[in-house]
Amino acid sequence: VVLCFWAAFTEADYLKYKDPKQPLGVRIKDLMGRMTLEEKIGQMTQIERKLATPDIMKKYFIGSVLSGGGSVPAPKASAEAWVNMVNDLQKGALSTRLGIPMIYGIDAIHGHNNVYKATIFPHNVGLGVTRDPQLLKRIGAATALEVRATGIPYAFAPCIAVCRDPRWGRCYESYSEDHKIVQAMTEIIPGLQGDLPAKSRNGVPFVGGKTKVAACAKHFVGDGGTVRGIDESNTVIDYKELLSIHMPAYFDSIRKGIATVMVSYSSWNGRKMHANHDLVTGFLKNKLKFRGFVISDWQGIDRITDPPHSNYSYSVQAGILAGIDMIMLPENFTEFIDDLTFQVKNNVIPMSRIDDAVGRILRVKFVMGLFEDPMADPSLVNQLGNQEHRELAREAVRKSLVLLKNGKVASQPLLPLLKKVPKILVAGTHADNLGYQCGGWTIEWQGVQGNDLTVGTTILGAIKNTVDPSTQVVYMDNPDANFVKTSGFSYAIVVVGEVPYAEMYGDSTNLTIIEPGPSTIRNVCGAVKCVVVVISGRPVVMEPYVAGIDALVAAWLPGTEGQGVADVLFGNYGFTGKLARTWFKSVDQLPMNVGDSHYDPLFPFDYGLTTESRKGN
Ligand code: BGC
Repeated sequence: VVLCFWAAFTEADYLKYKDPKQPLGVRIKDLMGRMTLEEKIGQMTQIERKLATPDIMKKYFIGSVLSGGGSVPAPKASAEAWVNMVNDLQKGALSTRLGIPMIYGIDAIHGHNNVYKATIFPHNVGLGVTRDPQLLKRIGAATALEVRATGIPYAFAPCIAVCRDPRWGRCYESYSEDHKIVQAMTEIIPGLQGDLPAKSRNGVPFVGGKTKVAACAKHFVGDGGTVRGIDESNTVIDYKELLSIHMPAYFDSIRKGIATVMVSYSSWNGRKMHANHDLVTGFLKNKLKFRGFVISDWQGIDRITDPPHSNYSYSVQAGILAGIDMIMLPENFTEFIDDLTFQVKNNVIPMSRIDDAVGRILRVKFVMGLFEDPMADPSLVNQLGNQEHRELAREAVRKSLVLLKNGKVASQPLLPLLKKVPKILVAGTHADNLGYQCGGWTIEWQGVQGNDLTVGTTILGAIKNTVDPSTQVVYMDNPDANFVKTSGFSYAIVVVGEVPYAEMYGDSTNLTIIEPGPSTIRNVCGAVKCVVVVISGRPVVMEPYVAGIDALVAAWLPGTEGQGVADVLFGNYGFTGKLARTWFKSVDQLPMNVGDSHYDPLFPFDYGLTTESRKGN
């Protein structure tokens, strides 16, 4: 009797899903067999960290939390503060009946950009220029480590949009107008998630341990193809073009074990991607055999409002039936939970659809080892913004620069610049502004202006570090022409560009640099030899100025390591970057991509001059 009792006790006590020796499929099945509908729908719900408390996690069985853009837990919070915040919420999730860990996600899209002191890498528009997949892999690994240093196991990156129109406010999140470059850059995925084990099956998500993160290929699909580059709008192209331009990078991502895919706000030929069953379920899940989970975009379900079905239940139904597994921030998450529960109970949404979603979410959590090791590891906190990562970012900056002009006549190049001259001028709105250098999605969603946002080197600071100690560096934001003419400068470096922006706030029809950039260029370059360095998320209007300047450099949005710009301007390294985007003459030409019949650019795709490195000049 005692033996029998003992056997019954241990059997009841033994939870297969908690046993890492059990095969993955067995663990998922066992756990799902124990879950109530409420627990399942909780797994599918991702809420914003401002709403999340340990009690809320527990009460609603919340499966995931995210940080939207912005400094939470507090501006300049330490890595330890982040770890504590994540662990607190995790404790809430683990205190539920089944103890299913939550997964915390964040937009780490150019390094761990929400966090003070993190290494901020160039935005993707600059990384595409490098055409260096191994560099991308190293950046992925560094980013993963910094994200984990703050206790977070999930990054909403990479954006694999193929931006076809620079008027789009998210163009800088895209590596290139050319899908082949975007495909090559998906090498950031094994950097973020780790190298796939030899025997992995196509489509099965992989995340290799506590220094890696689950990645997210976004935004599925056609986000970079909307009309006139209007964010979240309509991509009007045929199936062949969708497949040949916007889809290929998803093939690569899936082959590389991407854990999650985020659906695009945009529509394809008038139909919201968030409601597109054919592409999300039919193509991505069934045809491509993607086995990770599909996440909506922020309030993506709420925004399915196509008439005539403009009510919330319809939106929930359309999104879930399309195949979305995790819902990022339903605007009112309890309403979402109630609505979905009601629709499942009334057989509007089949239980099989819920099981598909939950099985996928659990698979990722199991694969990542979150069940065995759910708590953030405080031993990694020192990895945030470490020197090695800053060196890597600096290398990326060097390789992302494109030299578009060098000398009024090619036989008299201005670059590389001499380090030892009596006096030089540094001018322009962007010369001493770390926030401008970093662009959108840095500390705040829309970015920040000025130098106080985080730790880094401005271009002015970098120039001062690089010139000979005897060289006098004069900095003036917008000097007048006479002053420049009479001051005896050997040459000037003018740094101008765009202000930070993100998403639709960056949509632009004129693509101009901010004032007084144009007059600074004219005043300075009319009076002294000058190189103009452009800080921008995309090609901008430069045609009116090009003839009057001596040298022109596209520096994109280089991030915190401005030193990389000076490294190349002064010849410690040569220029190697080639345009991964067409540089237009006038906005009237847009959209204009390489291969178009009306192709008449200022600088064509793949263009870029080179210089020799001239260390110690
Ligand atoms: C963006 C996504 C991002 C999400 C979470 C959305 O507005 O479209 O790219 O991952 O917010 O911050």
